[in-house]
Amino acid sequence: MFAVVGGGAAGSAAAFVLSRAGHDVVLFEASDDLGGRTQTVQRDGFGVELGAIYMLNSYTRCIELLADSGTPDLLTPWSPLAGLWDGSNLHPIRYDYVPSFFKLPMLSFRDKARLALRAVLAIAGPAPDPFETDSLADFDRGEDMETWARTRLGDNAFEYFVRPLIEPSFGTDCRDLSVPYLQGIMKRAHLAKFFLPRDGMGSVCAALTRNVDVRLGVEVVAVDLDGAEVVVSTAQGETSRVDGVIVATDAARAAGLLESGLGATEVQALRSAPYASMAHVNLRWVKNPWPANEFEMLLPIGAGPRPLLGTIVKTSATSQLVPAGGCMTNSYFSSAATRELTDDELIETALRHVGETLGKGFPDPVAEVFGIERALAICPPGHYRAMQELRNKMPARIGIAGDYLAHLGVETAVVSGERAARRLLGESV
Ligand SMILES: Cc1cc2nc3c(=O)[nH]c(=O)nc-3n(C[C@H](O)[C@H](O)[C@H](O)COP(=O)(O)OP(=O)(O)OC[C@H]3O[C@@H](n4cnc5c(N)ncnc54)[C@H](O)[C@@H]3O)c2cc1C
Repeated sequence: MFAVVGGGAAGSAAAFVLSRAGHDVVLFEASDDLGGRTQTVQRDGFGVELGAIYMLNSYTRCIELLADSGTPDLLTPWSPLAGLWDGSNLHPIRYDYVPSFFKLPMLSFRDKARLALRAVLAIAGPAPDPFETDSLADFDRGEDMETWARTRLGDNAFEYFVRPLIEPSFGTDCRDLSVPYLQGIMKRAHLAKFFLPRDGMGSVCAALTRNVDVRLGVEVVAVDLDGAEVVVSTAQGETSRVDGVIVATDAARAAGLLESGLGATEVQALRSAPYASMAHVNLRWVKNPWPANEFEMLLPIGAGPRPLLGTIVKTSATSQLVPAGGCMTNSYFSSAATRELTDDELIETALRHVGETLGKGFPDPVAEVFGIERALAICPPGHYRAMQELRNKMPARIGIAGDYLAHLGVETAVVSGERAARRLLGESV
C-alpha cells in the first residue's frame, strides 16, 4: 500500500501510476476538492479556473496518462487569437503560431532577421526537455532569461516577443528566471498547439484519480520513516503505515512534513524554493457586452513593469465554462501588483483594461478576486540543479513531487509525480 499527500496534478499523476501498477493507493488532500492549482470552481453557471487555464501538445506525459485513464477525449483544441495592447491598438497574433509575431510593426527588419535566425538555431541545436529537472539542470549556465534574450534577440524582440510569452505565465520578470525553459520551448514553438479541458482543468485530476482511494479534507501533518514502513499522520489524529509515500504538496509544506527525516540542508532547500504569488480578477456578464470581439487573450506590451500581465476572454462560443450568451474575463496580475494592490484596485485595473481594449460602456459585471500566495513555481539561475540535488537525496521510500522541482506548469507537475511513482516502484528513473 502506498500513500500520496496532495491531490494536485503532481499527486494525482503519482497516484495514477502507482494504482495502474496494481497497488492500493490512498491519496490525502487537505482541501475539500481535488486539483490544487488546477481546480475549476462553479459560480452562478460559470466555471472559473482557479489556477491553470490551458495545456499544450508538448504535455505528452499528461496527455498519455489521461489516455491510459480511459479519458482520451477530455481536451479540445484551442488556437487563441491574442491582441498585444500598446496602449492605443490591439496587434493581432496567434499565441500558438510564432510567424504571426513577424507582422508586428514594432519589430524592425533586423529584429525579425535575428528572431528567425535564433528560431532556426533553436530548432536545429540542442535544447533541454522543458519539463525535466535533470535536462533543465544540464542547460543552466547561470544566465537569466532577460540578459540572454536581449543579447541574442535584441531589445525589441525581448519586449514584444519574449515578455508577452513568458511573463504572463510566470507572473514575474524575465530577469528572475533562468534560460533553459525558454530554450526548450523555442525549439518546439513551431509545433505548439493549445488545448483546453472541455469541462475545465478540474477534470484532469478527477480523471487520473478515478481508481484511487481519495480522502478529501484530510490534512497530513507528518511523514516519518519507521523501519521498513512510513507512518503518515493526519490532523484528525489518524495514522497509516504504508510501504512508501509521495509528498506532492508545495515545497514549504513538504519541508514541514518531512522535517524529521531529512537533513537541515534539504529542509532549507525546500523552504526556500521560490514562488511568485498571483492574483486574478474574474469578471462575469450574463450577456456578452462585446459580441463582435474575437480576441481571446489581451496582452499589454511596452517597456517597464506592468501590474496587469494579461487577460483571457471566454464566451459561450469559445468555452463550455460560460453559459449561453455570456462572457467572462480573467485578468492576471504580477507578483508585485498582487502584493501592493487592494482587491478594489485590482478590480478597477481589470475593468479599465477590458474597457480600453474591448470597448467602454459595458454594464457592471460580477467581479471576484482570486489570490494565490504560492501560485507559480519560478526558476532563477541555479534552481534546477538545487532541486535535482534535493530530489536525489530523498530516502528510498519517500518521494517528492510538485512543479517547484522545475518550474510552474501542469506537465512539470505530472512529470515529477510520474517519476516519483516509478522510483517507488523500483523502476529506473
Ligand atoms: C493563476 C495560475 C494560472 C496558471 N496557468 C497555467 C496554465 O495555463 N497551464 C499550466 O500548465 N500551468 C498553469 N499554472 C501552473 C499550474 O497550475 C501548477 O504548476 C500545477 O497545477 C502545480 O501542481 P502541483 O500538483 O505541483 O501543486 P498543487 O496544485 O498546488 O497541489 C498541491 C496539493 O497539495 C495539497 N496539500 C498541501 N498540503 C497538504 C497537506 N499537508 N496534506 C494534504 N494535502 C495537502 C493542496 O491542497 C493541493 O491540492 C497556473 C497556476 C496559476 C496559479
